[in-house]
Amino acid sequence: MGAWDVRENEMTSRGAEWRGPKRAPRNWPAIVMFAVTTAAAFTIFPWYAVTYGFAPVTWLVFVLFMLATGMSITGGYHRLWSHRAYAAHPIVEWFYLLFGAMALQNSVFCWAAQHRFHHRFIDDVDNDPYAIGRGFWFAHIGWMLRDYPGARVGDFSNIEDLQRNPRLRFQHRHYLAIALGMNVAAPLLAGWLVGDVWGCLLLAGLLRLVLNHHFTFFINSLAHLWGRRPYTRDNTARDNDLVALITYGEGYHNFHHQFQWDYRNGVRWWQFDPTKWLIASLSWVRLTYGLKRVPEFRIQRAMLARQFERLQQSIEQRRRQGRLVALTALIEQERVMFAATLGEFRQLQAERFDAVRRQLADQWRGSEVRERLQALEKALRAQRRRVRLLRLQVA
Ligand SMILES: [Zn+2]
Ligand SMILES: [Zn+2]
Repeated sequence: MGAWDVRENEMTSRGAEWRGPKRAPRNWPAIVMFAVTTAAAFTIFPWYAVTYGFAPVTWLVFVLFMLATGMSITGGYHRLWSHRAYAAHPIVEWFYLLFGAMALQNSVFCWAAQHRFHHRFIDDVDNDPYAIGRGFWFAHIGWMLRDYPGARVGDFSNIEDLQRNPRLRFQHRHYLAIALGMNVAAPLLAGWLVGDVWGCLLLAGLLRLVLNHHFTFFINSLAHLWGRRPYTRDNTARDNDLVALITYGEGYHNFHHQFQWDYRNGVRWWQFDPTKWLIASLSWVRLTYGLKRVPEFRIQRAMLARQFERLQQSIEQRRRQGRLVALTALIEQERVMFAATLGEFRQLQAERFDAVRRQLADQWRGSEVRERLQALEKALRAQRRRVRLLRLQVA
């Protein structure tokens, strides 16, 4: 098989089913790494578990290493560096850099550059490095096993901000040494401390690595396939509570693709998002700061717009079935109210920009304006409840 040649192959347009060739040069280091670790996890690990077993303290080390490496990817590689959703003290950055390298998912530069392309070209089968349109296997792991041109390996044109960070440059330059060193030294040290070197190597080293790989890969595969889309239907990203359980909170992926610079993925307080809790807790001791949150109004607006879409679908379905929809006037009234609320919000924004321009921001940030904004949010919430009831009646 010769080198990949885009011109010779049929490449389909954005969002269409991908029909291009599956042959690109194999990425042997990745293939060997995944093959060896997976094979060992399925053979040596169960043999040792049955023959010798693991002490509770070894399991504890395993859990700690799972969290440290998993959340260095979600909290560090993803939310801190790929999206700049907050800023962190260098101590926190070093922690993320060391344990992120231990997760064996490449340097921050490579990871963040590809992830920014993923957001920019979402679902574009040629340019989204892990486009779900090319299938579950491809989005999960297949995209790393060959050198596909869409993966844009080494294209750092979109991470100039990160390249200015000397800690990130250091990690990129010495990635292999840090990654190998952490994977051997950290479990060895932990094993020596708790008196179970082989147990820690197998549990906190091997099994942790393989599980963490797939737990984070699920964000690119499962979280683009399975779940609900409460904020937007413009892309394939889904919200799924079960996926959130094993991805350190990244299962709320529909929210994330709509509001990517928010440090939260599970935006409601009850949504399971340990990465969000970690970032927020660190901010209490000033190790993280500048946490970005999407204004509640914009979240409510997106959800309500989606509810109107669903309502419209239900009505059209009923009409196709020849059933009359008696609620048309009521629905139209809700639509008019939604438009009015959005108009009021735009007016409020215009006043704010005007105040900022005239350097009266302090005066503008008075309690009156906050109250007006809160009233608008409340209006949207109440309307969401009414539209939900309307949809139940239509269905
Ligand atoms: Zn995604
Ligand atoms: Zn992202």
